Formats: sequence, structure tokens, C-alpha cells
Amino acid sequence: MQKPEGQILKDYDLRTTTSRSAILRLFLKNSFALSYSDIEREIAATFDRVTVYRTLKTFLDKGVIHKVLDDEGSLKYALCSDPCSTHEHHHEHVHFKCTKCGHTSCLDEVTIPPVRLPEGYTADEVNLLIQGVCGKCQ
Ligand SMILES: [Zn+2]
Ligand SMILES: [Zn+2]
Ligand SMILES: [Zn+2]
Repeated sequence: MQKPEGQILKDYDLRTTTSRSAILRLFLKNSFALSYSDIEREIAATFDRVTVYRTLKTFLDKGVIHKVLDDEGSLKYALCSDPCSTHEHHHEHVHFKCTKCGHTSCLDEVTIPPVRLPEGYTADEVNLLIQGVCGKCQ
């Protein structure tokens, strides 16, 4: 069972605001990653751009959500399932893009194997996207 959004905000030491609750609810409702326009489509009537951007940034900084890159080149966001904290995201899992339903989701249990970089290179973020057909569309 997912925790209600009010509890999640509390766990992350975030004050509950209507925009935070609404955006968090969207993530809880959908099991796949959401792009900015997905979010905007759902709540643009209620909140302005700046509020949405600011809320997403807060969630990213706090470790509530993480970035997901997919083949469209657009940035998407998904909930962090492991306890992530401010500026520290601990999970390095595979993302899966389904070519049938078009959804990109986190495969939390599938970890990205360690990649050895050439000397002088440091990685800040690791993203691995696998494309194919998801379990629901199979
Ligand atoms: Zn995270
Ligand atoms: Zn699918
Ligand atoms: Zn993910």
C-alpha cells in the first residue's frame, strides 16, 4: 500500500501545500513516469507554470522524485521508491519504455550494472533505458 500524500510530504519534511499534494497525487496515481506536459495537462487549470516547476524542483531536491530520460529526449519524472534524501538519490535502476503503451516505468528491482569509466571521467547520473513491450501489454 502506498502512503497517502500527506504522510509522504511529512516524511520528507515538506510543508503540505495544495500544489505539492496535487502533483504528488498524480505520481501516486500513475505507475509510470510523467513528463512536464503530462503534469501540466492534468493540473494546469489549477496551478500556474511557475508553481509546477517550483514544486517539481523541490521534489527533486528532496528526493521525492527522480529524473527519467526516455527516447523522446524529454525529461520525465518518477517517484523514488527507496529513501532518497536531499541531493542524494540512491537508486540506480533500469527504466523501461514500452513501445506499445508508450509508458516509461521504473524497474526498481533491476539495477544498472557497474560501468567502468575511462580515467578522468566521473559520473553524476546514470540512466539506462530499455525499450520493448511491458508486462501489461505482453
Ligand atoms: Zn531518488
Ligand atoms: Zn505497455
Ligand atoms: Zn526510476
